[in-house]
Amino acid sequence: MNLLSLNDVTMQFGGVVAVNNLSLTVKKGEIVSLIGPNGAGKSTVFNVITGVYAPTNGVVSFDGEKMIENYPKGKMKRLYAGENREKYTKIMLKRPDEITKLGIARTFQNIRLFRSMTVFENVLTAMHVRRTSNVFSAVFRINHKEEAGMREKSAALLKSIGLEQLQNMPASSLSYGKQRQLEIVRALATGPKLLLLDEPAAGMNPQESEELAEFILKIRSRYELTILLIEHHMDMVMGISDKIYVVDFGKLLASGTPEEIQQNQAVIDAYLGG
Ligand code: ADP
Ligand code: MG
Repeated sequence: MNLLSLNDVTMQFGGVVAVNNLSLTVKKGEIVSLIGPNGAGKSTVFNVITGVYAPTNGVVSFDGEKMIENYPKGKMKRLYAGENREKYTKIMLKRPDEITKLGIARTFQNIRLFRSMTVFENVLTAMHVRRTSNVFSAVFRINHKEEAGMREKSAALLKSIGLEQLQNMPASSLSYGKQRQLEIVRALATGPKLLLLDEPAAGMNPQESEELAEFILKIRSRYELTILLIEHHMDMVMGISDKIYVVDFGKLLASGTPEEIQQNQAVIDAYLGG
């Protein structure tokens, strides 16, 4: 079963067509990679899936339901017409916080941690995102019982992936490789079904990226995750992906298994060859 599907998604910024009529599917339990040169539109795909941008065109479905839809021609409608947003156009768009609650979490291309907070606090603050964000919870403080539950879950999460001995260290004191793992743990704290990883191995040495690959495989089985991965480290991509999509200038260039992609002449010419 497809957990995520994009149908004919286009994302235009002024004159730049960052994503051009892209369709892709991710089945439950798979690790699917999105690769291609810098500027190919990969991060923009994540921004569309997570509701940061309304696509100019296309549909994004998640877990059997349409989550984002925009098929009108013409101008991109700005986001978030609040309660009225379905009245405005054919656009049906969930807000980023709603999308998180549906079960999609992401990490960013550039590391985003609270550097002076401890590892534990970094996870705990991410756990808070799980709570419903309505007016009342914003006004009334979280109760002690709820807070205690979150602390317990944060500790359990850190333990389950073997980071418990680092939990009282400031995030900034971790090695670069561990900081990037901590970012993934923060994403896990929101309880996702689908995890989007944007260049998690960027800046890593070969040993760190190998450890990261193992870590990704471990969390996939432990938390029954489905993963969409953007990455330039080809050893990692070819080693852990079930399927690969290659994009260039926002367009799909090829898709297939790691073996198929490595033998694809168009992909070699546009990306792998260099
Ligand atoms: P990748 O992640 O594959 O390197 P991006 O998705 O970041 O590529 O960018 C694809 C193209 O879209 C680039 O030309 C980039 O400059 C452009 N782009 C991305 N986000 C925006 C934005 N918010 N406004 C204008 N142009 C953007
Ligand atoms: Mg990018």
